[in-house]
Amino acid sequence: MQQNQDNQQPVIFLKEGSERTEGREAQNGNIAAAKAVAHTIRTTLGPEGMDKMLVDNMGDVVITNDGNTILQEMGIEHPAARMMVEIARTQDEEVGDGTTTAVVIAGELLRQAEELLEQDIHPTVIAHGYRMAALKAEEILRSIAINVHKDDVFILRRVAETAMTGKGAEGAREKLASMVVDAVSMVADHEGRIDPDHIKIEQQVGGFIEESELVEGIVIDRERLHPGMPSRVEDAQILLLNAPLEFKKGEVDTEITITSPDEVQRYLDEEERMVRAYVDKILASGSNVVFCQKGIDDIAEIFLSRAGVLALRRVKRSDMERLARATGASVVNRIESVEPSDLGYAATVEERKTAGQQMVFVTGCENPKAVTLLIRGGTAHVVEEISRAIDDALQVVSLSIKDGQVLAGGGAPEMELSLRLREYAAGESGRVQLAIESFAKALETVPRSIAENSGLDPIDAVINLRIAHEQGRLRDGINVLEDTPVDMLEAGILEPIRVKTQAISSAAEAATMVIRIDDIISAAPRGPGDLSPDEVGGRAPGMGPMPGGMGGLPPGFM
Ligand code: ADP
Ligand code: MG
Repeated sequence: MQQNQDNQQPVIFLKEGSERTEGREAQNGNIAAAKAVAHTIRTTLGPEGMDKMLVDNMGDVVITNDGNTILQEMGIEHPAARMMVEIARTQDEEVGDGTTTAVVIAGELLRQAEELLEQDIHPTVIAHGYRMAALKAEEILRSIAINVHKDDVFILRRVAETAMTGKGAEGAREKLASMVVDAVSMVADHEGRIDPDHIKIEQQVGGFIEESELVEGIVIDRERLHPGMPSRVEDAQILLLNAPLEFKKGEVDTEITITSPDEVQRYLDEEERMVRAYVDKILASGSNVVFCQKGIDDIAEIFLSRAGVLALRRVKRSDMERLARATGASVVNRIESVEPSDLGYAATVEERKTAGQQMVFVTGCENPKAVTLLIRGGTAHVVEEISRAIDDALQVVSLSIKDGQVLAGGGAPEMELSLRLREYAAGESGRVQLAIESFAKALETVPRSIAENSGLDPIDAVINLRIAHEQGRLRDGINVLEDTPVDMLEAGILEPIRVKTQAISSAAEAATMVIRIDDIISAAPRGPGDLSPDEVGGRAPGMGPMPGGMGGLPPGFM
């Protein structure tokens, strides 16, 4: 039960059992929770960042260095901490990289904000300063960025490599990066946009990462149905069938009672006749390759083999859709209505044995904008981590072309911003100035974390970097091998500008959102017969119960 403290008369307006936390206590609790999240993933930032092993309640294990994946898997419940998870999710969706950076910056902005709050600077002023700084940061980043074009393969490969850093691809990074850039250049339109549906990532456990390959076409993880079928078909006339190629046993659910051997024979004859008619229909269309989403029975299999047709059954729906786009075929739902015009074309359909596994390669498709990145690796964990890295790399390469600008990495832009934002702050008055300065200070957490995670002395590294930038070396970043900063363009550490602009703006947004909350009202835990949370009011849907302060987080997090 709650009462209004300003009033002599207690005013009861919350349901019994509700909890309320106000003022600084609320702020502190939220800031602590959000900071704890940032603190957890800070050690994964940068090329030498550590991995996290996450075990879900089913016992499944994910080993990753990817900020967004970590936060999604952690199952965080505290609402303020959830905001950090949201930043990572947005960053991942919009940009595909920079998730850890975004969360780490947000955490540091909150830490700085805490100090400002202690100096009695009002949250509104902090929010205002942070917003000004974020806007200015974007302007500065545009002015220091490096222009890039679709054909700048060299730069684009470095962008892909940078995005894959620390994601288990180390030994094969160059190879994978050039695969990614080639894939993007094959499917991108002139503005660099890629339709993710055009690039298929096919995972194959077995073999080495270095054996991963870019296939100009589609790879299907299936074997041909029967060894009597050709393993290679040229000038493939492709039928995509979404119907079973088998005898329909009792289509209207009639029960078949067989009383004599004659009847058995008649039944079998009927079955053969019907399947024969299906296969004839398919052959009449001119098809010599059949991808069937449903089953194909033994009899159909034999007829197809005899006719020299290469057939696959139980092909995944997503693969059927890809095949349709790539070959120009339309998916047919009724065998009776197969027409020659439904067929698609590919120069070759071939079953190949790769890394001890049979797969079917559909190449030379009518639509050249269909490629597959076949990712190999020794274990499922490796293949998944590499696939995530590839996915990130595809996005950043496409973004770099789209935005036409990339930035040097390794904390270079953050340091440059930090210096220029301090200058910018000097032109503002009083308390807003302090907020902008705090923002500038917070950005240094990126080079500091990269240095620290690489085993460098973070203080020295940041000081050296600051000096380099003061001397006008605006692309210098943390060299993870030694204490002296290096030019990140020369070192080939590059990222699309959007990775930074998005990370900074969403970090600023989340941080201001957290500090502006000064009242937390949590409904009582629901019992049987209770009203729904909507009816109790107050809380946003999807937010878990939130006790005051740092509830919900394990102790020792800070
Ligand atoms: P995020 O989830 O934010 O992408 P990462 O762990 O990928 O986190 O780290 C990204 C940061 O590491 C960026 O600031 C990037 O510029 C920097 N970085 C990547 N490779 C290197 C490198 N070889 N040397 C120094 N910094 C690097
Ligand atoms: Mg990254």
